[in-house]
Amino acid sequence: MAPIGEKSELHHQLQRAVRELCRNFPDRYWRELDAKRAYPEEFVEALTRAGYMATLIPEEYGGAGLGVGEAALILEEIHRSGGNAAACHAQMYIMGTLLRHGSEAQKRQYLPAISRGDLRLQAFAVSEPTTGSDTTRIKTSATRNNGKYVVKGQKIWISRAQHSDLMLLVARTTPLDKLQKRTEGLSVLLVDLRQAVGHGLTIRPIRTMMNHANTEVFFEDVEVPTENLIGEEGQGFFYLLDLLNAERILIAAECIGDGRWFLERACAYARERVVFGRPIGQNQGVQFPLARAYANVEAASLMVARAAHLFDAHEPCGAQANMAKLLAADASWESANAAVQTHGGFGFAEEYDVERKFRETRLYQVAPVSTNLILTYIAEHVLGLPRSY
Ligand SMILES: Cc1cc2nc3c(=O)[nH]c(=O)nc-3n(C[C@H](O)[C@H](O)[C@H](O)COP(=O)(O)OP(=O)(O)OC[C@H]3O[C@@H](n4cnc5c(N)ncnc54)[C@H](O)[C@@H]3O)c2cc1C
Repeated sequence: MAPIGEKSELHHQLQRAVRELCRNFPDRYWRELDAKRAYPEEFVEALTRAGYMATLIPEEYGGAGLGVGEAALILEEIHRSGGNAAACHAQMYIMGTLLRHGSEAQKRQYLPAISRGDLRLQAFAVSEPTTGSDTTRIKTSATRNNGKYVVKGQKIWISRAQHSDLMLLVARTTPLDKLQKRTEGLSVLLVDLRQAVGHGLTIRPIRTMMNHANTEVFFEDVEVPTENLIGEEGQGFFYLLDLLNAERILIAAECIGDGRWFLERACAYARERVVFGRPIGQNQGVQFPLARAYANVEAASLMVARAAHLFDAHEPCGAQANMAKLLAADASWESANAAVQTHGGFGFAEEYDVERKFRETRLYQVAPVSTNLILTYIAEHVLGLPRSY
């Protein structure tokens, strides 16, 4: 295995192959979809056919049997090429819950079909309109009744629900007032959207500032077979922790890709754009923000690699996953600002794509976990300070 942050030959091969695939999806492809807020169906199909969406699925179920470290490289490269993996990245981190906590029967039922690209597991539903970041207070309930769970409630900000066959749902199976601990009584269910839509489940799109296939989802007595429960009833919060760590690491990798894209574009422009008789990149006022952002992207990238390494080794990685997400999101946002500034007026022109990527990378200060919540985690769990919320 290569030292942390160094790429193995497999990593280089993966990077080259993903770069090659992304060449078929140039800036214009993403720009046109962005204007229409349309889903990148052809891109997701190409990634699936090339096997990348089955990166984390073990070989015995038809996948590549690789780790979060390799998945991170794939997502980074997509973003570095100017694309956006948000259309499909969730399959990589949702998968972990099924892999680590699902039954053998569930794995045999779903994983081979996902590996073949016949089934999409792209939607993950936790957030609710009245609960915010306080996940243990979610109100969506799943009540057991005659071999089924009956689900009632509402989820918001659920990405890709209209482009997925399955949804990993977090719901309360025991009411809070019957429990000692708020972290208990939550369960994870696999909802088959193909059956549920029109049978109590309604999906409504939300148009956001970037192209993100976002929705709100309403459950009115949606029936889910009890065999779709992942792991043990009531232990869902603990299963979520693995998923959230993988999500943070993978989205941090996308931020690294964004950061590199911004800096490559900004430096190319700064070398060519001549004002006052010399390239603007000759001015230290233009160079320094780019150089500082570059240093921060590189540092964040090491933390992403470290977190991925720990995750794949099944070692505790909560602190590293959170720090990777914090540092990478900050570095990509810093690079985005430096890139807009370097481009001057052209930074605002759609045809340069900087403004599109700027809108896209802004999300990662808020989702999948906001910067403040990461800082509270570090303060409490790493620095041993009193819990602030
Ligand atoms: C485009 C997009 C896609 C998303 N996709 C999904 C998805 O697929 N599935 C899903 O379940 N969710 C999804 N989300 C939801 C996302 O995870 C939440 O928006 C995010 O976790 C923040 O929660 P909130 O919006 O409820 O903000 P709130 O919790 O209401 O927080 C609002 C602000 O207050 C701050 N704040 C709150 N409490 C504290 C505190 N104690 N100390 C300091 N600051 C605090 C927060 O940092 C934040 O800045 C998505 C969101 C967006 C915008």
